[in-house]
This record gives sequence, C-alpha cells and structure tokens, in this order.
Amino acid sequence: MKDFDQLMQAIRKCRYCKDDFNHEFHPVVWGHQNAKIMQIGQAPSYKVNQSLVPFSDLSGKRLLQWYQISQETFYNQDIFYLTSLAHCYPGKAASGGDRRPPKCCYQKWLHQEMQLVNNEIYIIIGSYSAKLFFPDKKLSDLVFENQKTNDKLAIVLPHPSPLNMRWFKANPEFENRLVEIRKIIAFYCNCN
Ligand code: SF4
Repeated sequence: MKDFDQLMQAIRKCRYCKDDFNHEFHPVVWGHQNAKIMQIGQAPSYKVNQSLVPFSDLSGKRLLQWYQISQETFYNQDIFYLTSLAHCYPGKAASGGDRRPPKCCYQKWLHQEMQLVNNEIYIIIGSYSAKLFFPDKKLSDLVFENQKTNDKLAIVLPHPSPLNMRWFKANPEFENRLVEIRKIIAFYCNCN
C-alpha cells in the first residue's frame, strides 16, 4: 500500500494503457486526502484531457447547476476529491461518444484512492460507475434513494453529459431529487 502522495504521483505518471490508446493522454485526478466528498465520474472527456481539470466541459457546467455551488467550491480540494473509474480520456467510440472507461484503471487505482482518501460521502456519476458499485441495480432506481458504499453515504447521479437527454426526458422527477441532493452537498460544503 502506498501513502497518499505516492499514490497521486503514481497515478499521474501511469502509462499502463499506452498500447490501447491512440492519442496523447494524461491521467487526471484532483483533490486532497481529507476532502469531504469523493466524486467518482467515468472518465475525462477530450476537453478535460487538454485542461487536466476535471469536468471543465459542458458536463461540468451542468453538474455545477445541479449542485448549485460555485466553481470555487467545486474545485476546492479540501471539499471535493474528483476522480473517475478511468483517469485518462479513453478516445472516441465508433458511435461518436467516448469509449467506455477501461476497467483496469479502477482495479489499479480507484480502490486504493477509496482506501486512502478520508471522504465522508461519495457521489457516483454515470451508468458505468453505478454498475461497478451496484451491479444488480438499475441506475434509475439508484438515483432516487441515498445509497451506501464502503459504509459511507453514496449519492448516484446520471451522467450530466448533453448526450444523456433521453434519460432526463424519461425521468422528469429527477428535478425533485436534485433538491434533496443539493441540501446534502451544501451540508458537506458548509454552505449553510
Ligand atoms: S486509464 Fe488509468 S490505468 Fe490506464 S493509463 Fe490512465 S491512469 Fe493508467
């Protein structure tokens, strides 16, 4: 087991998937060991692969609207630890969307991050992430109730990508669930 700083260095230097990726890639991870909220997304987008700032894209814009917090709060590394199943942009799929996050990254890094970061709650984003933590449940069932992972409160969210319109149309009650989620996030951000 590495200590937290060693783990961060190892993730940032990782080239494990170099034979699978046809593009320049940079592992992205953001946050301090004592961050209160560990947010686990799916994989960085093309834009994030360039900025190296998690969710600095259209998905991030929508996420901040959902949370109703400022960029300053979201990128405060003592509040949010921002990671994902895969730490590198996986490239484009033939369908036009991004390729699935490679599973090896979760096995190699995410479980170590979950052991070393002292977060109080998890926010798990997207259907691939939800499947990993709750393989027997449907995303739509997970989103509307508080869950538990690693003995901690876990909130599951649909992916905020503009490509996910079908899910939002099929689940209009998500707007009500967001009201509860905002209260939980505000509590951990000390916003109220
Ligand atoms: S996706 Fe994960 S395992 Fe693959 S190179 Fe990036 S950090 Fe390493």
